[in-house]
Amino acid sequence: MEFFKQIKSAVNIEIEKLRSENLMGSAKEAVVELDLFLNWKTDSFFFNPQMIKTICKVSDVFLTLKESSSTPSFKIISVRNAKDDGDFALCPRCDQYIFSPDHNRRNYDNLCDRCCAVLVQDFPEHDSVTQIKERLKVTNTLDWE
Ligand SMILES: [Zn+2]
Repeated sequence: MEFFKQIKSAVNIEIEKLRSENLMGSAKEAVVELDLFLNWKTDSFFFNPQMIKTICKVSDVFLTLKESSSTPSFKIISVRNAKDDGDFALCPRCDQYIFSPDHNRRNYDNLCDRCCAVLVQDFPEHDSVTQIKERLKVTNTLDWE
């Protein structure tokens, strides 16, 4: 876990730099690109982008795994603001930036897949549900129906 703390504090330092220049608000706006140097035999199964995303509380993480024979290490390639990146859409319900580079395939109202599923399944009477279903016919990106 020490390794994750190192990643988190290095990412936080980059986020603070951007915040001090008024280029970022909170960490949830951050998109992090990271190289991880791991020993395939012992380390690799521990790591996935979702885990690092959760630990760092950022919007998204892009990982490149590289082989190394020594102890695990990492290199931050970039930390940028999802707000300035057209490949991300802000979900109006959960307030998270979602990677969705193809604008034509975005959900109704830029809702994320998770929020669409919650609305349709748990709030079938919600005003948005009809539009979500209409949009699904066009994008056909979800398989939870
Ligand atoms: Zn959402």
